[in-house]
Amino acid sequence: MAKLKISVLGSGSKGNCTLIETENTKILIDCGFSARETTRRLQELGVAPNDINGILLTHEHKDHTLGLENFASKFDVPVFANALTLNEYEHSGITKPLNLNAIMTQDFYFRELTIAPFEVSHDSIHCNGYSIYYQGEKFSLATDLGYIDDNILESLKGSNTVVLESNHDVSMLKQNEHYPQVLKERILGKRGHLSNEACANAILSLAGSGTRNFILAHLSKENNTPALAKSNTTNLLQSNGADTQHDFNVCVASQDNTLKLDKSF
Ligand SMILES: [Zn+2]
Ligand SMILES: [Zn+2]
Repeated sequence: MAKLKISVLGSGSKGNCTLIETENTKILIDCGFSARETTRRLQELGVAPNDINGILLTHEHKDHTLGLENFASKFDVPVFANALTLNEYEHSGITKPLNLNAIMTQDFYFRELTIAPFEVSHDSIHCNGYSIYYQGEKFSLATDLGYIDDNILESLKGSNTVVLESNHDVSMLKQNEHYPQVLKERILGKRGHLSNEACANAILSLAGSGTRNFILAHLSKENNTPALAKSNTTNLLQSNGADTQHDFNVCVASQDNTLKLDKSF
C-alpha cells in the first residue's frame, strides 16, 4: 500500500489541481478550479477542504491559480511558490490577505514531507515541477513544459509515481484549422507544452529507472484524445519489451472528472 496517495482533481487548460495525501498531511499542487469546484472535487475524493495543509504552485497561469485566492484565504492554507511566481501572482490583482511563502531552488521541509522544486521551461515568469519525498517514496509532477532535458529527467527519476504532461498530438495540432499559426508555434515551442511523443519518450526512460505509475496530464481537448495519449506511451513501452498490463499503471487525468490512483505499484 503506497504511503503517498495521489489523486488528480482535474487537469487541462480549464483547470489543474492535484492532491497528495499521507496519513497526516494533505497538500495540493495548483488550484486552477474555482474554490467552490475545488471543494466539490475534494469532497468527491472524501477530503474536507479544511484538511488541506498547503498548496504548491507551479506557475501563475490562470488554469493553475483560478481558485487559489478564494480557497487559500477561506481555509487559511499557506501557499508555496517560486519567488518570481509569487511576485507575478501578487500583482495580478489579488485583494485578500494570503499566507504566501517564497521558495527557492533548494529542497525544503513541510510537515513530514521533503519537497524538491525543479524548474521547467514554459512561457510563464517561472515554472516549477515538484518532487515530494515521504518515508522512502517519491512522487513527481511536471506539467506545462516545452521540453524535457536531462536535468528534468534526473529530477523525475526514482519516483514511484509521476504526473507528466501529454498535451498534444503534433499532427493533430498542426492540422487544427481553428488554431492560428502563432498559437501553434507557442504550444510547439521550447516554452510551450509537451507532446504525446515527448511524454512517451520520457516515460520510457523513467520506466527504465523503476517508475511504475504514470498519470498523463494536461491533455488538450482540441489536439489530443485520452486514447491517443495513452496508446502513444503504452505502445512505446511495449515495443521496448515492457508488460504494460501487469507491470505498469498508465492512466490519463481528465479535465472534468477526478482521478484517484488506487492501483499503484
Ligand atoms: Zn501554463
Ligand atoms: Zn497549464
